[in-house]
Amino acid sequence: IPVDPFDLVIFGGTGDLARRKILPGLFRRFCSGQMPEEARITGAARSEMDDDAYRALVGEAIREFGGPRACDHGTLEAFLERVGYEQVDAMGEGGWSALKARMRPGCVRAFYFSVAPSLFGALAERLKGFGLADDDSRVVVEKPFGKDLASARALNLTLAQHFDETQIYRIDHYLGKETVQNLMAVRFGNVLFEPLWNAQFVDHIQITVAETVDVSGRGGYYDQSGAMRDMVQNHLMQLLCLIAMEPPARFEPDAVRDEKLKVIRALDPVDHHHIVRGQYAPDDNQPGYRAHVEDPRSRTESFVAMRCHISNWRWAGTPFYLRTGKMLRARTSEIAVVFKDAPHSIFGADAGRHRNVLAIRLQPNEGMTLDVTIKEPGPGGMRLVDVPLDMSFAEALGPEAEEVPDAYERLIMDVIRGNQTLFMRGDEVEAAWAWTDPIIEGWQTRGDVPKPYDAHSSGPEDALMLMHRDGRKWREIR
Ligand code: NAD
Repeated sequence: IPVDPFDLVIFGGTGDLARRKILPGLFRRFCSGQMPEEARITGAARSEMDDDAYRALVGEAIREFGGPRACDHGTLEAFLERVGYEQVDAMGEGGWSALKARMRPGCVRAFYFSVAPSLFGALAERLKGFGLADDDSRVVVEKPFGKDLASARALNLTLAQHFDETQIYRIDHYLGKETVQNLMAVRFGNVLFEPLWNAQFVDHIQITVAETVDVSGRGGYYDQSGAMRDMVQNHLMQLLCLIAMEPPARFEPDAVRDEKLKVIRALDPVDHHHIVRGQYAPDDNQPGYRAHVEDPRSRTESFVAMRCHISNWRWAGTPFYLRTGKMLRARTSEIAVVFKDAPHSIFGADAGRHRNVLAIRLQPNEGMTLDVTIKEPGPGGMRLVDVPLDMSFAEALGPEAEEVPDAYERLIMDVIRGNQTLFMRGDEVEAAWAWTDPIIEGWQTRGDVPKPYDAHSSGPEDALMLMHRDGRKWREIR
């Protein structure tokens, strides 16, 4: 179903994010017929260029990142007809009137801030000052949303001076992933799981987001941030919220976001004995973290693992283990709900310990696995074995699954539709920083040095011990 006619302005329209994600995403939505005839996309940035030069840049980006349809010359040309450019300096006065002249009455107006957060205030002020934005316009802002509670609050206040909360779309692209939304479908669309989804039946939950890439190329940004700010405060926190929240009354923006906020507010402070930081070490084949950043003595973590607790009726006593890092063995994101042992084994001690595990894979090969205990085939008596009920969404749903839009495409279309369900509310972001800040401050006051770990491993040994001490084990990163 096509969305309403819109004018989308991408500030930072010549930048990396616009070229790799936003524009190719829009192109794919165009190919699927979701973009109406009257849709217009305007790139706005500091570089001097005209519409044709920008179309050439966009065309090149789409041929590189837009998928198979980008080879279809006619389709790409038709898309590019909807694209234009205006040279605008966020901090200056030039270009704004010309940009305004491109806005058409009766179209949804959306302004994507794909620029450094330090420019958000200047952009918001000028959008209002030059009369580009009205009370129904939307602004989309990218991560990082602050680097601590104080800066996030300041950003929220700046945006709030010019826009209502209902107009602000804070992107966490994890929320746009198909499987992340499936998490809610699985939990709240089935009777099977929800009765067991609590401390009585769940032993613990593991959330892993492992990457194989290093930080070279973006070391300048990353070294100021680290895994805690770059991944845990936002992406892992969002996954934790979706897995732990109470069922919202309706699948509506504030109903969902209220429940997520309650989870963050119920998180206990994390004892520093329950956190392990790591930094990938150099080896014979490649440089380590410190060679990828400016400071050769950097203490920024490229890996973090922790145990946290949610103090509420549902989860009291159930640990949540989170882990994320760069330069690990495999690129994989997974949430695993590990259920408790059966209360009594009728098969005796020899049958061993068997547990149901529901694993939700976000990538690669999105899908779900439920480990179920059955009898080992053969005449050898009653021996038990765990086998996976394995469902790959691509296989289960057939060719349609291949058409699944990527996170950015879905989220941008939600902006045009005016649906904020998959965007973070200001109070959510602040609550997440309020929980994260003391952890980072603790590292700084103690002069904590991250543990080195081997490239392509599962992280530092101490992270394995974190689980081991509790008589538990991380799932393999593969
Ligand atoms: P980039 O440096 O590649 O591009 C920055 C863009 O901003 C360019 O188009 C530049 O012309 C424009 N710009 C800079 N100063 C300007 C000014 N004064 N007025 C108008 N335009 C100006 O950056 P990027 O990687 O595209 O990132 C953009 C934002 O998105 C950043 O906030 C970044 O943290 C965030 N982000 C990026 C990625 C990514 O994969 N690149 C991922 C998540 C979030």
